[in-house]
Amino acid sequence: MAGSDSGGGAGIQADLKTMLALGVHGMSVLTAVTAQNSLGVQGAWELPVEAVRAQYRSVVDDIGVQAVKTGMLASAELVETVADLIAGTDAPAVVDPVGVSKHGDPLLAVSALDSVRTRLLPVATVATPNLDEVEQLTGVRVGSEPDMRRAARAVLAFGPRWVVIKGGHLAAGTDQAVDLLTDGSQEHWLRAPRHDNRHTHGTGCTLASAIAAQLAMGRSVPEAVTAAKEYVTGAIAAGFALGGGIGPVDHGW
Ligand code: PLP
Repeated sequence: MAGSDSGGGAGIQADLKTMLALGVHGMSVLTAVTAQNSLGVQGAWELPVEAVRAQYRSVVDDIGVQAVKTGMLASAELVETVADLIAGTDAPAVVDPVGVSKHGDPLLAVSALDSVRTRLLPVATVATPNLDEVEQLTGVRVGSEPDMRRAARAVLAFGPRWVVIKGGHLAAGTDQAVDLLTDGSQEHWLRAPRHDNRHTHGTGCTLASAIAAQLAMGRSVPEAVTAAKEYVTGAIAAGFALGGGIGPVDHGW
């Protein structure tokens, strides 16, 4: 359940490419449509909640769902609609609390933040905020690895079973990209070599979809997140120039 990126790098397009690459059948519940390219988001339109509910019903009633992933949800109304749909299924849900694009374009109304905190995060199996989203949602500003533990506790207080704090933004000037996966008792520090590649459009969507694909195949959350991090690290390393701005990660590596 996510938005469309007409440029094909992020959103539903990244989700479906990731799922294809990992060998699962992806389906799509579109929540919004963006006019977007490598330079930024030129326009965004929400879909009506009835359209979101109807897409979801169609796939659940006939095909069935082993895992759910959420991305751009745009408004409080859509956040709450999606949260209700997730609450009605036993499938694990990966919630990427998408706030702002890499170019700084808003993908979620500020008025929807409270619904993310109180309705969506409580039904998440795994939440995958980046450091900007953590700050927006919890007020915790992360400047170091120890801060990531504080940030994780603050997100877990809203109720997701697990959280992945994506520390990628801390990696500038270092040779490692570090993420923290925790459920409040277990702690997994996931480290990968940092690739100095500016073509990273779609990174967050790809990680969350890869986690959902692994969960759909029956992996545990730590196994799923570890495999997903490997997948996204490869996709970032292979990211390529397209258009005049930030190119997409590559799913064909
Ligand atoms: N566009 C859509 C529709 C998205 O869902 C996302 C993902 O989070 C983005 C853009 C942002 O992508 P990025 O921040 O990687 O540029």
